[in-house]
Amino acid sequence: MQLTLFSQFKPLPYARMVVDSLSGPYYEGRGYVREGDMKAAFFIASEMYKLNLKRFPLAPTFYQNFNFPVNTFPYPVFAALDESYLKPGIEFVPSPACPSISGEYRLVWVDSSLLYNETAFKKFSKQSFADAMIVMDEKGIVGEEEKKVFKNLGYNPFAAKGIIRIKDKITWSVATDTLPYAQLDIVRNVIHRQHQRIRVQIQNDFKSSYKSQNVITYIPGSEEPDSFIVFSAHYDHLGRIGHSVYFPGANDNASGVAMMLALAHHFSQPAFKPRYSVVFIAFGGEEAGLIGSKRFTMYPVFPLEKIRLLINVDLMGGGEDGITVVNGKEQQKIMQLLHKINEEKGLLKTIKERSNAPNSDHYFFAEAGVPAIFIYTMGAYKHYHDLHDQGKNLELTAFEQVFTTIIELINRY
Ligand SMILES: [Zn+2]
Repeated sequence: MQLTLFSQFKPLPYARMVVDSLSGPYYEGRGYVREGDMKAAFFIASEMYKLNLKRFPLAPTFYQNFNFPVNTFPYPVFAALDESYLKPGIEFVPSPACPSISGEYRLVWVDSSLLYNETAFKKFSKQSFADAMIVMDEKGIVGEEEKKVFKNLGYNPFAAKGIIRIKDKITWSVATDTLPYAQLDIVRNVIHRQHQRIRVQIQNDFKSSYKSQNVITYIPGSEEPDSFIVFSAHYDHLGRIGHSVYFPGANDNASGVAMMLALAHHFSQPAFKPRYSVVFIAFGGEEAGLIGSKRFTMYPVFPLEKIRLLINVDLMGGGEDGITVVNGKEQQKIMQLLHKINEEKGLLKTIKERSNAPNSDHYFFAEAGVPAIFIYTMGAYKHYHDLHDQGKNLELTAFEQVFTTIIELINRY
């Protein structure tokens, strides 16, 4: 066998395959209905298995299991304003923490002006809203104080059957508990003051102990196998609502999984066998509150002190405006290397840095003292936590450039 110094692996076509697969309907939005997250974990484990990656002796399989509560919507949801039916996922969604609700309710609009008039507010509060849904629109509220009061109205002080929040754009997330009243988000252009009533049918299924998993493998280092470089990316997304709606999560974060697996391909080639052990962790439960990564930092399968560097990737689908490095402010040695690489190679338009923030799976590692950064790409792509975050919309503009930059960083670190 002849060793070559040039990588035989082509990251872009591989990334396209991973993104299109994981954001496709089979994976159910990689959430908690029809075991989408488990199917995605299996896909990743299979890719790792093909590369002959190793499991850690402390972990009996590639999986590290953990359980958490999650609110799900496995059944079709329905809402109609008077006679107009609303499209789920596009024109309305149940709030992630919404409980079941079924029936017809009158609509009661609450204006921001009510906040400025104590007498009116008190009078208003005396009515019964057991047969009503309160409609609230944050738009047009200027002061921070008013915003706060208005936000507090979201806690249903009028004991209404439910709350409708008007949004410019429908986005979704994951809830690990339920509200004591129904809450829907409706997009602004479909709801009008003339609407009198809403008919709604939503049935939730609160799973108090859903079993999820992190997928963890590694390549033993050739010189210092007890020191670890870690690549991580969360594979979970928001899942689905009923039969017709699923959130593809192509950018968030099929693209990051593609980057992590592409790096696994690279370092698996004999010519690029790493000096340190290289670990690959696909985290579950990120969208539900960084649950998988928190779990790992509490029960690591190798000592956290042995991590020389952790690179977490999320939102790898853009990049025409460069990248942002979260926790870069705190990790100046890494930033200097990144800037040096970019000066030499000119791969990325800019490299911005930010302070640490709990916005992805690097967070608990950084808090534990691990040199950890989180890289995301910047650009025009704005589909986030909505139905349009699809593989066909994702250009993977700077995927190869980021891939090359990360490999250079590892080689020089
Ligand atoms: Zn994400």
